Amino acid sequence: MPEGPTILNLRNKLNRFRKKTVTEAGGYGDMDKTGIEGQQLLDIDSYGKNFIFVFRDFFVTVHLGLFGSMLINKRKKSNASFYLHFDDAQINFYIANTKRIEGKPQDHFNYRTDILKDNYDGELVLSTVQDKYKERMIGDVLMEQEIFAGVGNIIRIESLYRAKIHPASLVKDIPEKKLVFLIETVVNYAFEFLEQSDTVKEKTLIYGRKICPKDKRELIIEEMGKVKRKTYVCPKCQKMYS
Ligand SMILES: [Zn+2]
Repeated sequence: MPEGPTILNLRNKLNRFRKKTVTEAGGYGDMDKTGIEGQQLLDIDSYGKNFIFVFRDFFVTVHLGLFGSMLINKRKKSNASFYLHFDDAQINFYIANTKRIEGKPQDHFNYRTDILKDNYDGELVLSTVQDKYKERMIGDVLMEQEIFAGVGNIIRIESLYRAKIHPASLVKDIPEKKLVFLIETVVNYAFEFLEQSDTVKEKTLIYGRKICPKDKRELIIEEMGKVKRKTYVCPKCQKMYS
């Protein structure tokens, strides 16, 4: 599944469509598309793993999920689940989850929880994690998109390894300064990912690996917690807080 940095890189490729007028909107997805044609696309933004197409009175979010993709001025043989056509160009989404929401995106999404936004608010995230998620495993909490918008499995695994925290540790048992360090690590790694999106998988320390690069121990690789994603852990480097 594409993570926040990949979505932001794709979104940046869409910048040239800002302020253009939609000539046709369609796709087999069941979202109501009435009223999009003829509208000016005021802005294209992103929040976590969502693209946001902003129109005057409403906005459309597109989430690629596990199998989705986006093409500009190209088509697949299969039908697009959502597309926007302009005079001289088109954006096509395949197997994407699309929602139409009335109002402004800022009223719907808390941009202070998007790991790649300038106004990401680490203090807000820290206090939310400590209040609302204290009984949960940190490996699960990192995937909560309402406070770690944009984090996917690579960012989760690599950040926990860099912060030396075992993913099965409960939030309430982790010292506050370690949580602060983890939140900083998530943001720093996300920006590293953003700059090297194409090679990020080649440069991971433990994601997709079998042994720890530091002590050459075999990694634990299994589904852990409620998140049904493959988890990689070095039992020596990553401390289990309990
Ligand atoms: Zn290790």
